[in-house]
Amino acid sequence: MENRFSLVFEGKNENVSLFLQALQYRFEKPFQIANLEYYATACIVEMDSFCELTSENVMERSRYFMKAAKRQGKGAYLKITAKQLEEKEQQKLIEKALQHAINHNEIEVHYPPIFSLKQNRYVSAEALARLSDQNGNFIRPDIFIQVAEQNGMILELGMLIFEKVCKFIHDNPLEELGMEYIEINLSVVQFMQERLAEELLGVMKMYKIPPQFINLEITETATATSNTYLMRNMHTLISKGISFSLDDYGTGHSNLSYLIDLPVKLIKIDKSMIQTFGARKTHIAMECTVSMIKKLGLKIVAEGVETKTQLEQMKQLDIDYIQGFYYSKPLNEQNFLLILDSQNNQLA
Ligand code: C2E
Ligand code: CA
Ligand code: CA
Repeated sequence: MENRFSLVFEGKNENVSLFLQALQYRFEKPFQIANLEYYATACIVEMDSFCELTSENVMERSRYFMKAAKRQGKGAYLKITAKQLEEKEQQKLIEKALQHAINHNEIEVHYPPIFSLKQNRYVSAEALARLSDQNGNFIRPDIFIQVAEQNGMILELGMLIFEKVCKFIHDNPLEELGMEYIEINLSVVQFMQERLAEELLGVMKMYKIPPQFINLEITETATATSNTYLMRNMHTLISKGISFSLDDYGTGHSNLSYLIDLPVKLIKIDKSMIQTFGARKTHIAMECTVSMIKKLGLKIVAEGVETKTQLEQMKQLDIDYIQGFYYSKPLNEQNFLLILDSQNNQLA
């Protein structure tokens, strides 16, 4: 039998914790009913106050945090701060926006073009997801992707984004406009799905996408997760002609074995390395990293190049590709096509 009770204390009451601890202590002793002694357990969640207090939102919040308390075991005591409540609220709003966007196919994809220093033109682009809430407010992708990963929506969302990119490639003459491939981010959660490779290949078949036109970006954190499906998916996709990039290199663990073992073609050096290049130690680290990656026969994308100075530094290091606001911010489909079109006209 499960019963939930909420006690609401008015005003600022420093004694709330003491009261709840006393309550918890009371449950350690038996309750006497008639001549019998009964033991009962209680999980207690102490929540800071929040505005617009209604019985509904008190119960709703307590339901969520009670689940968390129960995961800690019988008799758990959990103290939830106003900040945690606010984060939970925020997460709920993001989940709502995500669900709406999924249901109404409203997720957008923007494309920051990637410049080849050798060919002196744009040769690829990354696909970046864009989501706004119902009031049109932009939600940062790193935030909504994390929420989607936590609640599992990333599977549906990831496929939706992938399909959107495939449709875009199918509907437009990207190859004629100088594009060699499009880079698409994949979450580790997607990679751990047994049938990921088949599903991606199915979408590509539907839109008749040549496999060499797709490059999938994975992160070190993804590959650090030892999951049998992950490597299997990667090898199946590679065997069909799809290539991989290692994203955000220079953050996280930067384990050298990833460079050696992973079947990736491109290494994307994280913007934090590029933007602190001026510091002596980063400079040395970058020089050594770049020379090692090159000796391994892999190509390099420098991400987050914003200034002329940074561009010159990357040129000196003989980096292959540049992505960053110096060339262009991520563009919507229409503006991305325009920039490629104007590049083609200039080169003609
Ligand atoms: P990321 O994959 O490292 O993507 C690059 C991020 O760096 C993008 O942020 C991009 O706008 C930003 N960036 C690129 N050049 C510059 C620059 O010169 N200066 C600055 N300040 N920033 C630059 P964005 O679009 O906010 O995406 C953030 C992260 O969200 C991505 O990081 C990626 O981890 C995730 N993400 C975005 N779209 C997707 C998606 O479709 N699927 C998955 N799984 N993750 C995605
Ligand atoms: Ca990326
Ligand atoms: Ca990156």
